[in-house]
Amino acid sequence: MKRTLIVGNWKMNLNTHEASLLVKRLNDKIQVHRDVEVVLAPSLLTLQPISLEIDRRKFRLAAQNAYYKDEGAYTGEVSFTMLRDLVNYVIIGHSERRIYFEESLELIRDKVQAAVRNGITPILCVGETQNQRAAGETSRVVHDQVVTALSNLTAEEVEGIVIAYEPVWAISTFGGQVAKPDDMEKVLKLIRHQITELYGDKAAASVRLIYGGSVKGDTASGYLALEDCDGLLPGSASLNYHQFPDIVAAAYRQTRGAGDEEKSNG
Ligand code: PEP
Repeated sequence: MKRTLIVGNWKMNLNTHEASLLVKRLNDKIQVHRDVEVVLAPSLLTLQPISLEIDRRKFRLAAQNAYYKDEGAYTGEVSFTMLRDLVNYVIIGHSERRIYFEESLELIRDKVQAAVRNGITPILCVGETQNQRAAGETSRVVHDQVVTALSNLTAEEVEGIVIAYEPVWAISTFGGQVAKPDDMEKVLKLIRHQITELYGDKAAASVRLIYGGSVKGDTASGYLALEDCDGLLPGSASLNYHQFPDIVAAAYRQTRGAGDEEKSNG
């Protein structure tokens, strides 16, 4: 059975002290559950200290980015090879990196391949912009992003990865545009269908598809109830020590029903 995946993307927020404080607060509120995997994605700077502080039964770590070359003269970059003992996951192709740092489809493909080569699970983010959506291009955009990013992987490698559908128009729009769960299900289904066509039934059944876009504690269960949704990738809400545990709690309820968490906090 696939474990539900909840990944908190802290983006470029929290210094070492603040990050440590948030981990302590999350640790108090989040319990171990065998069917839910909780992943924190702090900044690169705080990954190392956080790795020494987390309760590994409760939390795993993700980097928000890495460079595809293993080593060499690439000033300012950190490689997947350097990260492999520190993290289980790396977020790749987040729309903020595609837009602000002009990451191309090919660069993202190379990063996905480098992650897999180094034994780190890629969380590949895909999604259309508002204009692309209005022009009816969602399927084509998501198709191109998925096909190119996975093109150097085998079917067996695809089985282990995570794809996050994050419509750009739905990211950080609290109080603004809301992504309706039923509309999100259509795109998640489309992605799973694409994986079936390209890599077969086994890869499509195993790959984890998660949703991200302004998810909060009170909206999480609507997305988690979707047939093709295997988890969530909250950004802003993951910085809030009430909201993030609420999202994790929604995942607990979704997987088994409330009340059977393996208590670890007494
Ligand atoms: C994200 O950063 O991937 C994200 C979905 O952010 P937010 O939850 O703030 O929309």
